[in-house]
Amino acid sequence: MFKSSSAFAILLLSVVIAPIINSASAQAQLSEAPSYQRAAITELWEPLPKQVQPGTAQQPPSDAIVLFGGSSLAAWASTRGGAAQWDIEDDSLIVKPGTGDITTTASFGSVQLHAEWRTPAEVVGDSQDRGNSGIFLMGAYEVQVLDSTNNPTYVNGQASSIYKQHIPLVNASLGPGEWQTYDIVFMAPLFGTDGRLARPATFTVFHNGILVQNNVVVQGPTEYIGNPNYKTHGELPLTLQDHGSPVAYRNIWLRRL
Ligand code: MG
Repeated sequence: MFKSSSAFAILLLSVVIAPIINSASAQAQLSEAPSYQRAAITELWEPLPKQVQPGTAQQPPSDAIVLFGGSSLAAWASTRGGAAQWDIEDDSLIVKPGTGDITTTASFGSVQLHAEWRTPAEVVGDSQDRGNSGIFLMGAYEVQVLDSTNNPTYVNGQASSIYKQHIPLVNASLGPGEWQTYDIVFMAPLFGTDGRLARPATFTVFHNGILVQNNVVVQGPTEYIGNPNYKTHGELPLTLQDHGSPVAYRNIWLRRL
């Protein structure tokens, strides 16, 4: 009689249940209905979530946009103009110090981002000068990349900090020369038609599978000096930082949210 149980639930709700619950006297009738009918009132059968094939260690999820898969810099350009100048070695993308930041040719808003990174096995420098790079969502909001193993620095600037804004909940760092992962949920800021901030950006970050930023609110674009202030913008490219250290990246992909 019914094409699906959802059709039955909708009919039940609109024809049978809704009129009943509108009358106080019918509450008793509802309570006497079979449990499967009462349970159906709170069941949703649509919209049906899109099917996505989950990823593996080697393969991104089926709906991911791959920014670096091991062999091509086609998704990237130099922030100084022209092609990205970083090196590709053994499926890895390696910062070429002095060539500048690289940026995606496409723009993004809210995303789920996966990236793997490795600071140099040969430890050079201290504090912010040891294995520094960074992932800038929208080219403006930095999740710090740093060698934070036995490397004291200001804690809102260590690995997996939201630079100068949020200290990570724990230090989940692996050592220099080891591959590490970031899984980031970034919600882009929203601006009203008047240009005023309607909703600040937020970050949730897992570092090597450990929650290190739990839905933290971003105060504005990352600043090295002074306090951040939002300026209205739409979607923007993602940027990787050249901070003078040959940090390596691999398996960079994102999903639009
Ligand atoms: Mg940095």
